[in-house]
Amino acid sequence: MYEDMILYKLANKINIFKIITASIFLFITPLQASSSSDLNKIRTSYDEQSKKLRIVFDSNKKINYLVKDSSSNYIKIVFTNIKISKSFQNPKINNRYIDTLKVSRHKSNLHFSLKSKRNFKYKYFSLNPNGKYGYRYVLDITMSKISSNNSIDNTPKKIKKTKFVIAIDAGHGGKDPGAVGRGGTLEKDIVLSISRKLYKLLKKEKNIKPVLIRNKDHYISLRQRIKKARSNKADLFISIHADAAKNRKARGSSVYVLSQHGASSEAAKWLANKENSADLVGGVSIDDKENTLAQVILDLSQSATIETSIKASSILLSKLGKISKLHSKNIGQAGFVVLKSPDIPSILVETAFLSNSKEEKKLRTKKFQNNIAKALRDGIIEIIKKGII
Ligand SMILES: [Zn+2]
Repeated sequence: MYEDMILYKLANKINIFKIITASIFLFITPLQASSSSDLNKIRTSYDEQSKKLRIVFDSNKKINYLVKDSSSNYIKIVFTNIKISKSFQNPKINNRYIDTLKVSRHKSNLHFSLKSKRNFKYKYFSLNPNGKYGYRYVLDITMSKISSNNSIDNTPKKIKKTKFVIAIDAGHGGKDPGAVGRGGTLEKDIVLSISRKLYKLLKKEKNIKPVLIRNKDHYISLRQRIKKARSNKADLFISIHADAAKNRKARGSSVYVLSQHGASSEAAKWLANKENSADLVGGVSIDDKENTLAQVILDLSQSATIETSIKASSILLSKLGKISKLHSKNIGQAGFVVLKSPDIPSILVETAFLSNSKEEKKLRTKKFQNNIAKALRDGIIEIIKKGII
């Protein structure tokens, strides 16, 4: 358990999604005005039935554009001789199929790119002023039912990848013992033992490559843990812990994902570190972009990652509920540093309470440790089968 935890217990999963989608805004600062056309606004709308996403770019003059690049789930458009106007309003992007969306300035041009989790077809056209609207460039994107990794809705026929890399992070270690039970049990020992058991179980699965972030009793900083997961190209990061609370009766398992609040400030931290920022979003370098624009890219990417983490964690929570009492039936959201990879879905599991003497005893048993490891394994298998990661 971490000290800096700000916990938001949310009533249910749907609420979490609402909060996340509502908080995905583009924050673009106005750039210098000039005689070129001004981008005043980007508006989006989405029709769930037809799966059509419409993106409208509003300008004071005719917009010159060219489609620079496109593939089955990617499009890049270059708008030439255009600036972001002073009156530019932050658009709300509310679409779960968007993987990354970028707007960046390159001299007098603006580059717009969109990568989707689904394959899509697109159409575009320009419109002249009409009524309250000025010049518009309209991009219509129709998402296909096939996801961009070729798995089909609700029918996990194909596994897109041959190996899913699961990073198993035993919390604490070395000089950091984590929580300490009244009987002297150290969190770092229990969680390492559970992590090793989980590793062995996952190793038997042919489509899973487990990676232990630590495999001995040594200290690793939280940033190092993220780094190790990233260097192993982890598809999912699971940090394993044992809880502690002042209330000695507190008991049961719980799962956490990163809160959006934590994500926003983290994006700024990543940006402060150019070394880290170079390979952040799907290999897209952001170091040559405006910082504010880069911030947009990161926030969107992390929002998508959190959404995936929530889906994955609800499966883990239900598996844990079968073998252990749940401390909370809801997914917690908190500003855990170790969950802050912008692009790896990350979940923190509090297995049980070391501060509860009954649970301390239980945590020491092989049986309980095995049960936790098996529940997590079953959850991970289901997460992969459902195409969540
Ligand atoms: Zn801990």
